[in-house]
Amino acid sequence: MGKDIDWSNLGFGYIETDKRFVANYKNGAWDEGKLVDDPMITMSECACVLQYAQTCFEGLKAYRTEDGHVVTFRPDLNAARMKDTCERLVMPVYPEDKWVDAIVQTVKGNLDYVPPYGSGATLYIRPYMFGINPVIGVKPAEDYQFRVFCTPVGPYFKGGAKPITIRVSDFDRAAPHGTGHIKAGLNYAMSLHPIMEAHEQGYAENMYLDPATRTKVEETGGANFIFITKDGTLVTPKSGSILPSITRRSIMVVAEKYLGMKVEHREVFFDEVKDFAECGLCGTAAVISPVGKIVDHGKEICFASGMEEMGPYTKKLYDTLTGIQMGRIEAPEGWIKVIA
Ligand SMILES: *Cc1c(COP(=O)(O)O)cnc(C)c1O
Repeated sequence: MGKDIDWSNLGFGYIETDKRFVANYKNGAWDEGKLVDDPMITMSECACVLQYAQTCFEGLKAYRTEDGHVVTFRPDLNAARMKDTCERLVMPVYPEDKWVDAIVQTVKGNLDYVPPYGSGATLYIRPYMFGINPVIGVKPAEDYQFRVFCTPVGPYFKGGAKPITIRVSDFDRAAPHGTGHIKAGLNYAMSLHPIMEAHEQGYAENMYLDPATRTKVEETGGANFIFITKDGTLVTPKSGSILPSITRRSIMVVAEKYLGMKVEHREVFFDEVKDFAECGLCGTAAVISPVGKIVDHGKEICFASGMEEMGPYTKKLYDTLTGIQMGRIEAPEGWIKVIA
């Protein structure tokens, strides 16, 4: 490994690497795109992204497997999700096959930054797109940039995954028929205030309920919920304003096909949450964070799995999915893309 990085002490922050991919959309067409060295972006003071937040992103990881390969996990689903996002934000779609190729090129250009197997660290990959030409009257941009950079990140949980405590938020994340189901930067801008407030009050995350009735579980600012019933069924909330997490969709397959669990994807009422045995948050960054306690305006819901470790079903799901990602367990057809 060429880079002088202390893999075991990496946090979840930005470290500049050697190469990033850039493609430009001008006069109605994408150029070929290429890897560049310069991490800085120069744009007009009136760029659409700066004035009207026309920007979206994705997030995925590259892993070094047990047998020394470098792989990514289901990048085709990230490509498809970014296509859906771009269509909703009136941005030009970057063709899905070329999208995956841009990921491959970026990782290949930064192979020395892929952390070693067993370190717990991974290479986080951030594809994103934004409107770059000057726009002052409200309308979509005409020119866009699609970019991919990557940065090595440490294990999300140093010293093991301790269950977290979260609160039910009085703020809403996404309106019905709004943009909750797409990966728009604007969804995160408006979540910054609620998350800072949650942290000040000692909570790790916000549980958002559906804004229309405030009776159903949606998700947190950046992760979907999974619940386990007392008899071992996996239940995940369904709603048109939840971001379709690839981790959550993969966990549903792992539960059914690898662990023989019953799986339900349906509306989940907040009233039934107290009856679940285990709760977790899932997303690319942490894979699964176990939730030990949910506080709803002073009323506590404590899960049977407690505050010391992951519940048994959550642990099995976590171990199986990370085993697939790291090449220890055979993956379903098409889940692993070998890069090197
Ligand atoms: C990205 C994201 C997730 C997690 O999705 P993964 O594909 O599993 O990484 C969940 N919720 C929101 C709001 C997100 O933006």
